[in-house]
Amino acid sequence: MPQYDAIVVGVGAMGSAAVYQLARRGLRVLGIERFDIPHDRGSSHGVNRIIRLAYWEHPSYVPLLRRAYELWRELEHVSGERLLVITGSVDAGPEESPTVEGSLLSCTLHHLAHELLPADRLHARFPAYRLAPDMVAVYQPDGGFVLSERAIVSYVTAALDCGADIRAREPVLGWEPEGHGVRVRTSRGAYTASRLVLTAGAWAGKLAPMLARLAVPERQVLMWTQPREPEHFRLGAFPVFNMEAPEGRFYGFPVFGVPGFKIGRYHHRGERTDADEVDRELHPEDEAVLREGIRRYFPDADGPTLALKTCLFTNSPDEHFIIDVHPDLPQVAIAAGFSGHGFKFASVVGEIMADLSTEGHSRFDLGLFRLARFGA
Ligand SMILES: Cc1cc2nc3c(=O)[nH]c(=O)nc-3n(C[C@H](O)[C@H](O)[C@H](O)COP(=O)(O)OP(=O)(O)OC[C@H]3O[C@@H](n4cnc5c(N)ncnc54)[C@H](O)[C@@H]3O)c2cc1C
Repeated sequence: MPQYDAIVVGVGAMGSAAVYQLARRGLRVLGIERFDIPHDRGSSHGVNRIIRLAYWEHPSYVPLLRRAYELWRELEHVSGERLLVITGSVDAGPEESPTVEGSLLSCTLHHLAHELLPADRLHARFPAYRLAPDMVAVYQPDGGFVLSERAIVSYVTAALDCGADIRAREPVLGWEPEGHGVRVRTSRGAYTASRLVLTAGAWAGKLAPMLARLAVPERQVLMWTQPREPEHFRLGAFPVFNMEAPEGRFYGFPVFGVPGFKIGRYHHRGERTDADEVDRELHPEDEAVLREGIRRYFPDADGPTLALKTCLFTNSPDEHFIIDVHPDLPQVAIAAGFSGHGFKFASVVGEIMADLSTEGHSRFDLGLFRLARFGA
């Protein structure tokens, strides 16, 4: 039975970064993935993911974000690929909304460059935006997006170069502690290691039963449409956005990588699901939800549909991440429940998982992400 220093289960966003960070420290690492690398059945496909510094969700994410930016740049250097594209970011909503107040709080506490723009000034600067008159926007110049699938490919390639073993198309069926280490059973065999890192995304609850109610999969849909005014949606003319509107929380991107303006809505149609039984068909109701946002706030993008894709969120009860050591097994580190906003952090989560695995702690304050907050 092969013996490793560490096994990482799930080689998606968090797992690919963790495998790399462990391998570059000289550990003998095995990354195990049930599908291909990359693939389109988890949470990380669809070209790109927003990264933003003015974090409305909580100011304690900002130090992690600063490190995430550094590590994305480092990965670009290692891979020779462009992975982080800066467009500026817009956080929009009514002035007293959690989005605007939270974003301003992060900017103030962490001294981030920003501007508060009323709807008409945002439109004058970025003509695609047609916020409602009672909405305002926090514009932060460091926002942008990460090329998600290319980032996973880059991490896996770099990990292989550091000597990691990666096995795809090999589902993990179960694991158990063995002495001070672990034993992992897959469809092809069994492996032992001193440490285990669980980064299984929407399948987290199937590999660690205590996560079943704490990391709940939800069906999402992304749409790309042909802009009627392509100039307004090109890179350089359109910052990424996150918008709190009466119709829901929308987010979107300039045209990049594939044709069309990309838009989604958090908690799309509120469909909790099982990661193995997701409805991957696209329905007229899926499109209708996103068209509503386009027609109201981005009418110049209301052209023909170019693509629709399903994807999975994995929600924790408070929508903050779960990053911790297993409460009973110090040799097991867990990263789960990224609640639809985790990708931008994958680079720093990889580093944190390597720190938790090798040293038992991280230099970052992980108080917001502890399992204990749920009584686990
Ligand atoms: C539509 C959509 C839009 C989003 N937009 C943004 C955004 O703009 N910005 C942002 O920061 N975040 C965004 N997110 C969230 C972000 O993409 C996720 O938080 C992130 O991708 C989660 O990474 P992960 O590693 O947990 O999951 P994944 O990348 O899915 O990786 C988990 C991996 O584990 C593997 N696995 C599971 N079980 C097993 C097993 N038994 N054996 C072997 N392998 C296994 C899976 O196959 C998968 O590859 C979005 C998510 C979605 C769905």
